[in-house]
Amino acid sequence: MSVRVIRTKDELRAALRPRRAAGETIGLVPTMGYLHDGHLALIRAARERCDVVVMSLFVNPTQFREGEDLESYPRDEARDVELAEGAGADFVYAPSVEEVYPEGFATWVEVGGGLTDVLCGDPGRRGPEHFRGVTTVVAKLFNTVDPDVSFFGQKDAQQAIVIQRMARDLDFRTEIVTVPTVREPDGLAMSSRNTYLSPADRERAPALYRALSAAREAVEGGAGLDAALADARRVLAEAGIEPEYLEARYADDLTPAAAFDGGRPVLVAVAARVGAARLIDNVVLGPPPGAGTPAE
Ligand code: AMP
Repeated sequence: MSVRVIRTKDELRAALRPRRAAGETIGLVPTMGYLHDGHLALIRAARERCDVVVMSLFVNPTQFREGEDLESYPRDEARDVELAEGAGADFVYAPSVEEVYPEGFATWVEVGGGLTDVLCGDPGRRGPEHFRGVTTVVAKLFNTVDPDVSFFGQKDAQQAIVIQRMARDLDFRTEIVTVPTVREPDGLAMSSRNTYLSPADRERAPALYRALSAAREAVEGGAGLDAALADARRVLAEAGIEPEYLEARYADDLTPAAAFDGGRPVLVAVAARVGAARLIDNVVLGPPPGAGTPAE
């Protein structure tokens, strides 16, 4: 069956109703398009788990700050539809901005709990409003699609954690699956924003993952988190990259992690501007060998 492109929520609901009535399960993959292999891994995961796969394609204006790259964000719907179909999507839901945010739109979904004002949500960075935009649009997608399973990438670890909390707190029935980060052969996490990198910056960009890997190796060698972060910072500095942040936080509640506390997984997350692109990446670390149960 070939993919069907849908523009309105009414049309999408009408298309999904008989499928759900027939007992089929529905998987949702939210994206902003300009698909790469990371997105395709999510669609394939949905294809394996669910009978019906809906990929949404919407560059969500409310998650961009003034001065960010909303206008220049790369877009190519025809190519996205073709790639989505190849990976197994049944429906591409590509609404207009007016369909998602009608005149007079005034309702927002905000996750608190210290999850949205740290890391990328720090007011000096993208700010909590970024996550408010994300959770609002994802809540709307959950309402429109009513998915059984929804798929998000580990690449945006904080986003996945925030959405998990929203789904739990607001009783969305969807299961949430986090798919591992897909990387280029040199380790750079795939991102639509990698298209902003000049050839020279593209060569520097894998330093983010090398830095995270250095932190992982330090921990595996028995170093503490502070020493591991210092190693990572050195790798970034060698590539001439000054991180916006490089932090270790507990992966369940994003509170700062100074040590492996009771075997809780630790998220080591980095954001850095590399030329014209703002890149993010992360790894999740378990406690060092012999210090408890591995978390990953
Ligand atoms: P985006 O289009 O950037 O909003 O991303 C849509 C979804 O794809 C989000 O759940 C992302 O976390 C996920 N994603 C983006 N890049 C990757 C990647 N390199 N590996 C795995 N998932 C990704």
